[in-house]
Amino acid sequence: TGLEGGIVIKDDWPGYSLELFTYPEHYREDIESVYIPHGVIMDRTERLARHIMDDIGDHDMVVLCVLKGGYKFCSDLVEFIKVQCRNSNKHLETRVEFIRLKSYLNDQSTEDLHIIGSQDLSVLRGKNVLIVEAIVDTGKTMKALLKHVEAFEPKMVKVAGLLVKRVSNVVGNLPDYVGFEIPNRFVVGYALDYNEYFRDLNHICVISEIGKVKYKI
Ligand code: 5GP
Repeated sequence: TGLEGGIVIKDDWPGYSLELFTYPEHYREDIESVYIPHGVIMDRTERLARHIMDDIGDHDMVVLCVLKGGYKFCSDLVEFIKVQCRNSNKHLETRVEFIRLKSYLNDQSTEDLHIIGSQDLSVLRGKNVLIVEAIVDTGKTMKALLKHVEAFEPKMVKVAGLLVKRVSNVVGNLPDYVGFEIPNRFVVGYALDYNEYFRDLNHICVISEIGKVKYKI
């Protein structure tokens, strides 16, 4: 159907003017536009939750939240899954586990992936696992993470990615559930950071040149 890749945002989409929305005043100069408003993220996430329930909603699942960037998407997705369980009278246990990864410095992907804090993921053994990640760029992170998770011998692994970048040199597979396909631009907000800044922004936004310089390390 061509819809599996999510909502497609075209290369020439400039985003909405900042003046059309509210946002933390301290970021006024640091963002260029509102790329995906918070409400649209929520609406799309609700639909993804339904898709996930239709596919794997008959079994208990373990949600594996990829920190830090995935915490908002994960929390909203799990809420929508729970609402749908209640509304369809399904008694399904959703357990949430966390894994923390780091691969970026400034707006550049670095070669090495770090799993921070050695997590014991042995609870994943024999379970249906849903990995929840905010953004997939080259796919390197997801590939390494899948390898790490498979070692714990889960019954099944699915991946939900809110954003997938349209890049030419993709490594590995696309997520099973995709919120939006976006151009190859650096985005922040909705828990996605630039050197730990902008996580407190609700919308997904494009960072400005001023912002890039101001928070560079
Ligand atoms: P990949 O390994 O797929 O190239 O990169 C995935 C990771 O890079 C994501 O988990 C995320 O942490 C980070 N990343 C990639 N693109 C962006 C972006 O546009 N904005 C932010 N804030 N992080 C990104």
